Amino acid sequence: MTPLSDPFLLCLVALLALTLGSFLNVVIARLPMMLSQQWTREAHQTLALTLPAQKRCNLLVPRSHCPECDTPIAWHDNIPLVGYLKRRGRCAQCRCAISVQYPLVEAASMALVLWVAWHHGLTLDTLAMALACLTLLALAVIDWRTMLLPDVLTLPLLWGGLLYQLISHPDRLAESVIGAMAGYGVAWGFYWLFRLATGREGLGRGDFKLLAALGAWCGWMSLPLILVLSATTGAVIGIMIQLVIPRLRGAPMPFGPFLSAAGMLILLGGDRVIALYYNIIGLAI
Ligand SMILES: [Zn+2]
Repeated sequence: MTPLSDPFLLCLVALLALTLGSFLNVVIARLPMMLSQQWTREAHQTLALTLPAQKRCNLLVPRSHCPECDTPIAWHDNIPLVGYLKRRGRCAQCRCAISVQYPLVEAASMALVLWVAWHHGLTLDTLAMALACLTLLALAVIDWRTMLLPDVLTLPLLWGGLLYQLISHPDRLAESVIGAMAGYGVAWGFYWLFRLATGREGLGRGDFKLLAALGAWCGWMSLPLILVLSATTGAVIGIMIQLVIPRLRGAPMPFGPFLSAAGMLILLGGDRVIALYYNIIGLAI
């Protein structure tokens, strides 16, 4: 492991990370729309109904535009972080507020990628872990906004984790495969126990695949910590939200953001975080 400490290279990595963060915002905003359009098309085909006109929407089309007035955003207002700060979070045309999610995702992408590069240098490990962290960030925000964990992100994350361990850490491949199976199995078991006990769904099926992916990336030993961290933070934040916003009492809450955050913590902290957890609960590993 060769840490990256050259200021010039770190600046280049930061710029690249900001650009990736900007692309992540596009994925977060458009992927749920693209899926919704696809489901609508499939439903109409199955029912032999006439499909209503759909706006063309993919990751490239239409150009970035204001969600209120549809004015295309100029390239200089689209520069990650700078564009938002320059316009003070408002559209240049209609002055409506632009969501703070955009600069937050860009800043979080930069922080995640810099952390990985700082610790692992310019290596295959950095590339793989940075992509995993950015995918987890996208999944967290999409699930928070839409209660969806798209297969198009969770499944490549799962297979990518297994491939990464096969190439970079073949000695850990068994840990990773067992982690993927155990992650899926635990979430599936919890889903059915909860459903049989309450008649309701406590987890979505996307959570099964996300936990399997985290098992592949972090190994089966990390799963208890991921579950403890995500369940605890999810419960605390859920209670706080319901206390502050009474109308949300009883509303379902996504679990993906908390799983993703716990997974990122373990990916970034490495074996030290898992060892610390097992030390705290008094088990030697
Ligand atoms: Zn506008």
